[in-house]
Amino acid sequence: MNIDNIYIQDISALYDNILNINILRADMLDPVVSGNKWFKLQFYVRDAIAAGKTTLATLGGPYSNHIIATAKYGATMGLNTVGFIRGEKPTTLSPTLTDAIQNGMTLHFVSREDFEQTEKIIAHNQDPNWAWIPEGGYGVTGTDGAKSMLTIKDTSSYDTIICAVGTGTMMAGLIKAAAPHQKVIGISVLKNNVSIDAEIKALLTAEEVNKSFEMIHDYHFGGYAKHTPALIDFMNDCYKKMELPLDFVYTAKLMYGVRDLATKGKFEPSSKILVIHSGGLQGNRSFKKGTLTF
Ligand SMILES: *Cc1c(COP(=O)(O)O)cnc(C)c1O
Repeated sequence: MNIDNIYIQDISALYDNILNINILRADMLDPVVSGNKWFKLQFYVRDAIAAGKTTLATLGGPYSNHIIATAKYGATMGLNTVGFIRGEKPTTLSPTLTDAIQNGMTLHFVSREDFEQTEKIIAHNQDPNWAWIPEGGYGVTGTDGAKSMLTIKDTSSYDTIICAVGTGTMMAGLIKAAAPHQKVIGISVLKNNVSIDAEIKALLTAEEVNKSFEMIHDYHFGGYAKHTPALIDFMNDCYKKMELPLDFVYTAKLMYGVRDLATKGKFEPSSKILVIHSGGLQGNRSFKKGTLTF
């Protein structure tokens, strides 16, 4: 994990130069510990070590970027890791879970039904040596970590910051870190996630709630981890033109949404846009070989 590997890339050509648009390549942080997950984890890990805990415990799906990031980052910091995984144990583990085990993580499989109530899983699995991290790193601690995504590079010249939204933890951090002249736009990757605005506001102070931000719900492609041939073609095209590897769960929907919004006149021609490449290519490992060209 090396934040010096992160850079800003001009991708205006991808949008036929109708937009002045750059991308923060937080995906370059590490090949395994994907961009935003490390930022969200950093203070959970710091607090766990300060409290003398030996083990990080968290939850996620079989292709979770958060699970593999916790496994590898925890191992790097000398901590044990435990992952509670959604669904019964499959006969063949996903590559993500295989890698998590290789990084020392102990896995516990939880039925989809029981996984609906993550608070219960956490309540029933308390251990004095464990530090629990909420699913996806959601929480003020995760948000505080995500703030530095906007400050590791000089991002003051941009007026619009756009990111993909799952739990909203990263977006809340970007809102906190944004300057008064900046607006933060989130592209939600879940279908009809009506509670997301409240979940983001719960992470902000009373003043921060009045900052400039907007959630867009039109680019979920049918729901979380759903996709269409058009989305896959778009991903292959982004890689061909810009060497930009996207994932179909988050950043492809983000980039596709930005293009569609641009064609609909959402942005001022003078606008300087920064999109966040939040990393997270684990989901792509669920595809058949050959689906993607990268
Ligand atoms: C997890 C993830 C997100 C969503 O972040 P939240 O803070 O949960 O909204 C976005 N992009 C990528 C690549 C991710 O892995």
